[in-house]
Amino acid sequence: MLQHLTNILKSNGLSVTEPRKKILELFLGSNGALDHAAIEKGADNLDRVTIYRTLQAFVERGIIHTIPTVDNSVKYALCKECGQGHHHDNHVHFICEKCGTTTCIEDVSVPQISLPGNYHIREKEMILKGECESCYEI
Ligand SMILES: [Zn+2]
Ligand SMILES: [Zn+2]
Ligand SMILES: [Zn+2]
Repeated sequence: MLQHLTNILKSNGLSVTEPRKKILELFLGSNGALDHAAIEKGADNLDRVTIYRTLQAFVERGIIHTIPTVDNSVKYALCKECGQGHHHDNHVHFICEKCGTTTCIEDVSVPQISLPGNYHIREKEMILKGECESCYEI
């Protein structure tokens, strides 16, 4: 685990520091996306500024990506095939209305959308809401 953490940081050009290891560990151990509150709780020896800077560095490097939420806060999830400063995330996100988890659905891409005229799309995001696998009852 420790070696894995160190490898991820190093291969993305980040020096290995305790806060970075701690926060990366939280992401590796989590099934869904994490919000600021969950990260602060999981890394309770770190101050907000350190957490904020670490998250920014991870987003810039392509280690984690941001996910918009309904209340305009932001969540973060581990990237799978990104890194070295590039993101290739084009998957949809699922918010469970029962348990509140946000999950990356890596296998499903955001569909192609064509807009009229001179609109230029820089980024596409798609959020689906409903019940997740663990909450869905037949
Ligand atoms: Zn990414
Ligand atoms: Zn659920
Ligand atoms: Zn995602």
